[in-house]
Amino acid sequence: MANSFDAVIIGSGFGGAIPALRLAQANKKVLVLEQGRVYTENDFKQTWDLKYLSNMMSITTSDDYAVFFRSGMVLGGGSVVFSGLMNRSPSEVFQFVDYNGYRVWPDAVNRQALDPYYDMVESMMQVRQVTWQEVSKTGGMFAKMLDNAGLTCDRARFPYVNCRECGFCEAGCIYGAKQSLMHNYIPQAQAAGVEFRTECRAMLIQPVSTGYTVQYTGPDDSMSSVQGTIVILAAGAIYSPELLLRSKQYLPQLSDQVGKNFNNNGGLRFGLELPEGLPSIECYKGRDSAAVMTYAFWKDYGITIEAGTNPASIFSLNVHRPGSYGWGLDFKHWAKSVYPSRFIIANIMGPVTGEGYVHLKNDLPAVNFPMTKNLSDYINRVIAPIGAFAKINNAILLQTMPSGYMYSIDHMLGTCRIGDDPAYSPADPSGQLRGYPGLFVSDSSSIPCGTGVNPSTTIAANAERIAASIVNNW
Ligand SMILES: Cc1cc2nc3c(=O)[nH]c(=O)nc-3n(C[C@H](O)[C@H](O)[C@H](O)COP(=O)(O)OP(=O)(O)OC[C@H]3O[C@@H](n4cnc5c(N)ncnc54)[C@H](O)[C@@H]3O)c2cc1C
Ligand code: SF4
Repeated sequence: MANSFDAVIIGSGFGGAIPALRLAQANKKVLVLEQGRVYTENDFKQTWDLKYLSNMMSITTSDDYAVFFRSGMVLGGGSVVFSGLMNRSPSEVFQFVDYNGYRVWPDAVNRQALDPYYDMVESMMQVRQVTWQEVSKTGGMFAKMLDNAGLTCDRARFPYVNCRECGFCEAGCIYGAKQSLMHNYIPQAQAAGVEFRTECRAMLIQPVSTGYTVQYTGPDDSMSSVQGTIVILAAGAIYSPELLLRSKQYLPQLSDQVGKNFNNNGGLRFGLELPEGLPSIECYKGRDSAAVMTYAFWKDYGITIEAGTNPASIFSLNVHRPGSYGWGLDFKHWAKSVYPSRFIIANIMGPVTGEGYVHLKNDLPAVNFPMTKNLSDYINRVIAPIGAFAKINNAILLQTMPSGYMYSIDHMLGTCRIGDDPAYSPADPSGQLRGYPGLFVSDSSSIPCGTGVNPSTTIAANAERIAASIVNNW
């Protein structure tokens, strides 16, 4: 039947495109539903115009409007708009124990088990470590500051081929240098027979005798339905639980953990205002990342830090000095004195679990992301060493998020997490939702805690692992 498939996959980001290819290679008939449209190099623009960006990203706010969450909403999902940092999670991440004393990753999933899948992802996406020649001035300055403090740094890893370092990765790469999923998994999946229906938003999932029915709205807003022997949810950490929560009337045995344990990958962002008198770092130049990171705080504080580049629009959005406004004449004078010559953004990531949750408000997804004691303890713990690092370099540390102002989060994880204990994890280690054979999660929602680094490589490797397990157990 035209609308019956072996597998229906919802979402075409890392969690969706990867199983799509692997199942098609195993001769399964696969359909991918993607709510976004197709963007090619010809459609991308080098601009930070919010109107343009909002066509490629979906934005959800927290209940208190303090935070907004950005994710890709195009064929290829987040891979099309991401900054391209692709590092493997350190081994210790997979041993992480949460506030309840629960070891969140399944016993069977650790760095060693994931390494062959990391290899596959890196080979498919041509991920490699940048050379020092490719590090921006900002990255070089960050490396020098670490060296001044007796700390080490690493060059970051990217899926870029012939990158021109124009700095518009998050707006879509007009040069085709960024090897998003549109360059590898998706065309290969299409060649292997996968059907991608874009501008199709899945709305409801319902079990039937032969698997599951998925109802979706098409480009003309009309409702259609398809059937899959299995269904794989890969809509991201906000939208996969949204779908499950909306479908709860048909999925009554769903774990009450669906939507819970929301975390932001331990993401914090600090500004470093450098002292006067140094050569200008021209902090908007380079990729969307300064391409240098450090693991020097990993052992003692469980965090990594990546230096970011800084387009002017992002600068004014993100930077707030204590006791001052992030706008007005005073801000303008200060901004002119530090931008772009002596300002570095430092992105912190660490393995945390979250106490936020996704819920439905007027049938739309919403996120409750409170500043809990555990989150504020985490922030206080990591501020101290970074403050000391800034001081050694005569730099001023500015906390930019969370800071009471609105801020953005791009790394959402954990809302349908895999795990060994049914009390804490809605999905078993194979990604199958408990109580619902054939219904899987394979995206960021399945990742049980912060990945210690940017999360996409671990999401992708885990999706490869889940796809292999589905194929092997078919
Ligand atoms: C601006 C930005 C920069 C980033 N930079 C980095 C980085 O440098 N390194 C890194 O590791 N990570 C980065 N990330 C995060 C990374 O993009 C995500 O962690 C990753 O893409 C999540 O993968 P996923 O498969 O879970 O979901 P996504 O990649 O978000 O894919 C989900 C897909 O599902 C679709 N969808 C959602 N709901 C439905 C529905 N109901 N029906 C049909 N389709 C639906 C969406 O449109 C989307 O295409 C960045 C994210 C953003 C937004
Ligand atoms: S910095 Fe490189 S990868 Fe990013 S948009 Fe420019 S050319 Fe593409």
